[in-house]
Amino acid sequence: MDPSRFHAPAALVGESWQRDVRIDVDARGFITALAFGVAPEGCERLRGPVIPAMSNAHSHAFQRALVGMTGRLVGEDSFWTWREAMYAFVARLDPDALEAVTAQAYVEMVEAGYAAVAEFHYVHADADGRPYANVAELAHRVVAAAQRTGIALTLLPVAYAHAGFGGTAPRPLQKRFVLERAHYEALVAQLADTAARDDVVVGVAPHSLRAVTPALLHQVLDAAPPDAPIHIHVSEQRREVADCLAWSGQRPVDWLLDHAPVDARWALVHATHADAREIARIAASGATVVLAPTTEGDLGDGTFLAERYVGCGGALAIGSDSNTIIDPFAELRQLEYSQRIATGRRNVLAHGDVPVGAALWAAAAAGGARALARPLGSIATGRRADLVVLDVDEPALAERAPDAMLEAAIFGPARRPVRDVLIGGRMVVRDGRHVHRDAVFRAWRATLARILAA
Ligand SMILES: [Zn+2]
Repeated sequence: MDPSRFHAPAALVGESWQRDVRIDVDARGFITALAFGVAPEGCERLRGPVIPAMSNAHSHAFQRALVGMTGRLVGEDSFWTWREAMYAFVARLDPDALEAVTAQAYVEMVEAGYAAVAEFHYVHADADGRPYANVAELAHRVVAAAQRTGIALTLLPVAYAHAGFGGTAPRPLQKRFVLERAHYEALVAQLADTAARDDVVVGVAPHSLRAVTPALLHQVLDAAPPDAPIHIHVSEQRREVADCLAWSGQRPVDWLLDHAPVDARWALVHATHADAREIARIAASGATVVLAPTTEGDLGDGTFLAERYVGCGGALAIGSDSNTIIDPFAELRQLEYSQRIATGRRNVLAHGDVPVGAALWAAAAAGGARALARPLGSIATGRRADLVVLDVDEPALAERAPDAMLEAAIFGPARRPVRDVLIGGRMVVRDGRHVHRDAVFRAWRATLARILAA
């Protein structure tokens, strides 16, 4: 690709809007220079205000196919009954299906304004619970889906061994997630070997304190490539907190911070039931908290103490998690609304003169890039030119000043606030449509017909 020079009528730089912005991009797709208040001559004109593309810091892409199948009341319905439905669905997935479903989820992510994804990948074995001949078979299908759709991938092979605290044996429905230690280490090593060629960042993910023992947690950390991001689910459910207390005498976040070298490489996913003291400890550790507001709402998880956490200087990111909803604007709206409902106040996550939408978008884009260990997440020199062009022909956004536009996109009635998406300076979404949307959708449709009939 040749170097390019773009011009936008406005751009969100940090937390503030700049007018008439020129963005120089090198042949690798990285921003080399910015200029403000300049004319568009000699530039490729972007057709609306631009914001940095979002990183999706927590995804289980295959769960995209589960949408619509969990709405019937099952006894005392909860996260735990949803999980049974998800487990039953996993049994239907073969490698082709996993790739087709993942590609569909990734097309939708890019169209929604995500340019990167952290895939918390835990389906490793075949339907009988045996490793594939190539232990990385399904991980490679995730990589293929990412390459097809252009989304930047941070791949987090998950270590999963137990059904609950204290090393209880896995249940039969969990057999596709479990790899023996040697197989898991071979998986991580194989992915790390080809990471540079595939443009994939490889991290590790001990699934949760439920699913790994302390010994296994440390084996996973030992298997991680140097500087690899480390993601873990923690404190998502009240029962998980109670079980952890019964097992160890400590709450999950306290236990983790006391027994693992948690620092800026770490992403703590959910942390929903972290108490005020744990919140302060996470912020001090330098870890990022990854929230999945629409999934946490869907599953009835609870409400994270986000205002307190941000007040402690904690880094946060967002993820689409179960992929029931794939929309960073909706995640941020749900996050802010959860705080309003809990506190009885408005604009809880705004600060100073910065409107809440800009504050939320800038924080989540920067925190997401950090969780993915990728140079993304802001319109700045040295960052990749991953840009979302807002659609000024969308009624909710038309004629708005830039600083009102992001507020309208997050909190207003915009159906499709995204017009174009550039990844590494290349336009991947034009007029709301991913360049491979139709082909990926045909494969998705055929796949759903096949697996839902099974
Ligand atoms: Zn998750």
